Amino acid sequence: MFNSKETDRIKNLVESYLEKNDNIDQWDKILRDQYHLDAINLILDLAKDNEHYKGKMHKLDGTKINNLDEFKKIEFTTKDELRGKPYKTVCVDKSKLAQLNISTGTTGGDNIFCFYTMNDLYCSEIQTKYPELIPLKETDIVVNALPYEMSSAGISLQRVFQVGERAIVLPAGKGGVYSTPQKTVELMHKLQAEVLMTSPSYAATLYEYALESDLDPIKDFNLNRIWLTGEGCSDTYRKRIEKIWGAPSYFYYGSLECGSLGMECRYRNGYHIPEAHVYMEIINPETGETCDEGEIGEIVTTTLVREGQPFIRYRTGDLGIIKTVECECGIKERKLALRGRVCDQLKLDGRIFSPFYYEDYLMKVEEVGLWYHFIVKSDGLTIRVEKNYGTDISDDELIEKVVKVIKEGTGTIPMVEVVDKIPRVFTKAVRVIQEG
Ligand SMILES: [Zn+2]
Repeated sequence: MFNSKETDRIKNLVESYLEKNDNIDQWDKILRDQYHLDAINLILDLAKDNEHYKGKMHKLDGTKINNLDEFKKIEFTTKDELRGKPYKTVCVDKSKLAQLNISTGTTGGDNIFCFYTMNDLYCSEIQTKYPELIPLKETDIVVNALPYEMSSAGISLQRVFQVGERAIVLPAGKGGVYSTPQKTVELMHKLQAEVLMTSPSYAATLYEYALESDLDPIKDFNLNRIWLTGEGCSDTYRKRIEKIWGAPSYFYYGSLECGSLGMECRYRNGYHIPEAHVYMEIINPETGETCDEGEIGEIVTTTLVREGQPFIRYRTGDLGIIKTVECECGIKERKLALRGRVCDQLKLDGRIFSPFYYEDYLMKVEEVGLWYHFIVKSDGLTIRVEKNYGTDISDDELIEKVVKVIKEGTGTIPMVEVVDKIPRVFTKAVRVIQEG
């Protein structure tokens, strides 16, 4: 009902591939590569008159690529190029735009604007399904505790669950005017909701409010799936979330600009890439060269089903590794592992580490609560922790335990501070503080 000429082209292209094999989870490399080539050429054609992208394509002979290797001739678009410039990469007439979201600005600087047409929102993006990756029932109640204000997080996942999967969605939000954590916990309990979609830190916050409301997070709730998104976390942190809520959790990786970028299947060992939606590359952040398979680098994404404001070779600032593996779930395609953000990496002793690497060890100390800070100073790492619920360990014992586990696991000898309570934030949890 919202069709425009441009979306007919995107929709028709996707449909023609779904006719070959309507289960995208089962596409093989040949089909995927051919689709990517066709979809990229369509996006390049939609973007060819945009001044910004025209400049990025100057090394191309025309506005088409003949193979995926040629795509590397197109220059990257960075976050800084788009900050504070609302219409820079909009590729349709303004009259076709229907929604505007902005980036949260957690990486600093001015906002990045994201415009969508009605077709982006309600046709092309939700046309394709990933049955293995989003196995919702139409009767499932999904508590969507992601931010709805300004950001695309809440509303875009709402579209996936509600319009795409026909599940029942409670737009709970994350600490907005009407959406206090108390209210969210109360409704999760009253509705006996099956699914919670939120960030790792907010899953921890909701747990605290459940305890404060004298509810048993396991016995009094009916969760059978938690999706964690918005901020990364280590596997041990995830296991702690599962333990406190008594439900399995699945990582969901997306960006405010480019939407869904990775989802875990039931085997939960890496992200499957929604290949119909996005073309993903890994590059060396210093040189811009494409990384070999299995090599860590910056994730670069190209949106394949957006006409309003496509992102083409967009540098996400997130680090990851792509490998082709045949997963136990049956998906034979590329899998992504995340390594945190470029700007959050811990620089210690002249080396760079993912904060999740340290978190993984820290969270093994059960007496440590779910909120902490890694403070990187010129003289090393300080870990600020609080005690977990129900523990009566002394400060000195806790410090000793944390130092031992971190030292044995990572080789780093940290300073450890125990505080009563780390301040809670409803925005993305800031775990890493660079002080030196
Ligand atoms: Zn799988």
